[in-house]
Formats: sequence, C-alpha cells, structure tokens
Amino acid sequence: MAGETILIVEDNPLNLELVSDILEAHGYEVHKATSGKEAISQVEDNIPDLVLMDIQLPGLDGLTVTGIIKDKPETAHLPIIALTAHAMRGDEEKARQAGCDGYISKPIDTRALPETIRNFLDSIPDSHESET
Ligand code: MN
Repeated sequence: MAGETILIVEDNPLNLELVSDILEAHGYEVHKATSGKEAISQVEDNIPDLVLMDIQLPGLDGLTVTGIIKDKPETAHLPIIALTAHAMRGDEEKARQAGCDGYISKPIDTRALPETIRNFLDSIPDSHESET
C-alpha cells in the first residue's frame, strides 16, 4: 500500500499536475514545489519519503538543489529521483554525481511511473519498514 509522502519539484505546471494526479490516484500524499528554493524550504519543514526533482528549474537547478539537500546531515538520506527532459548521454551520470538516487527521463512514461516509484520506495531500507 502507498501512503508515503512524495515531494514533486517541477516548474512546468502541466507536468506538475500530471505527475501529482497519478501519484495521488495511487494513494501517495503529494507535496509540490515549483522552484529549488521552495523545494529546500519544504524539505526543511517536513521531510518527505521521496523527492522527484526536475533538473531544469529557474534559479537553482535541480542538481544544485539535490546537492544542498544531500549536504545536510538531517536530509542526506532523503531519496531523490531526477527528472530530466534531456535524454543526453551522461545526464544520468551527472545526476548520480550530484547525489540523485535514481533517474527518470521525460517525457514521463505515465503508465510505468507508479511501478517505478513503488519499486524505488521498496528498495529503500529506511523508508518502508514493515506494515502492520
Ligand atoms: Mn523544468
């Protein structure tokens, strides 16, 4: 069962709504941020179980934001999946170097997304303990 909190960081309103609607329909609690700054302050207020991080954001880009989150001891463990429109070679490597734990390329495969997220959450030892 779902129920985990997922923070979606995405500056494109259509993408934000699309991903948010899918995840809500699958039982997740969705929080939204439309800029890197907003993402950082949301994570400080309330640490989610997972972050979906658009890489191309105005101001602080997603890789920079990921680095900031991963540099703080209290959020270093927070799993972050990069979302990027650039299907360029090397992007996954860049995302991983910045501290991202996973990578989803855009356009997002909406049919595969719930399973991708589920598998990801289930693979994290800390966040998904036994359900009673
Ligand atoms: Mn963007």
